[in-house]
This record gives sequence, structure tokens and C-alpha cells, in this order.
Amino acid sequence: MEPKLDVCPSSNKHLRACLSCGLVKTSDQFFETGCENCAYLDLNDNNDAIDSCTTARFYGIVSVIDPSDSWVAKWQGNDACVPGCYALRLQGHLPSDKLDEMPPNLRLRYDRELKMSNS
Ligand SMILES: [Zn+2]
Repeated sequence: MEPKLDVCPSSNKHLRACLSCGLVKTSDQFFETGCENCAYLDLNDNNDAIDSCTTARFYGIVSVIDPSDSWVAKWQGNDACVPGCYALRLQGHLPSDKLDEMPPNLRLRYDRELKMSNS
């Protein structure tokens, strides 16, 4: 299977990371296509949602080509996510109404992120 790399950031300016799954793209890309992993966030065509559900404060980026076969993706909790670039650490919190809708596989990553940022 050809890896799909169309979710990679199209530029290194105005990068943001999804607070739910860590996917890194430009704010324009989030505006155009939303987050491929987090349809429940309704990011496309919605600058308010992009502001509250993604963050420009993240560090470390890992590129994942085959998430189901990558130990990094597994460790990050992204093994069920689309191929792309993912932030290693995120700063910020999802709005609480979005937290309730978060799929369990992403919840694992989010909870660990919280634990690390509080320690
Ligand atoms: Zn996401």
C-alpha cells in the first residue's frame, strides 16, 4: 500500500497540533480539512474550534508513515491514527464538552499528557 502523506504539514509556519491526537498541520490545513483523526472536533471551516482544540505550543515532532506498525505511534497512542506528523508533547487543554466525546484510544494519550504536564 502506498503511504498517504497528504496530511503532512504543507509549511513550517503557523503550525498547530491537535490537542486530541497530536496531529501537526498548518492552521490553514486544519481549516480546510479539519483533523483526520478527530472528526468529533469539527475543526474544518471553524476558526473558533481550531483556536480552542489545537495549540501552537507543542514540542517534538515525529513523522509516522505506518502507524499500525510503529512502536513510536503505539507508545504515543496514535497507532489507530492516520499517517502524518505528530507532536511529542502538547501544552493546553481541550474544552470540557469535547473531552466527553473523545474516543477511548485518544483518551489514553490525553490522560498521560495531563499527568506529565502536572508533574
Ligand atoms: Zn486530532
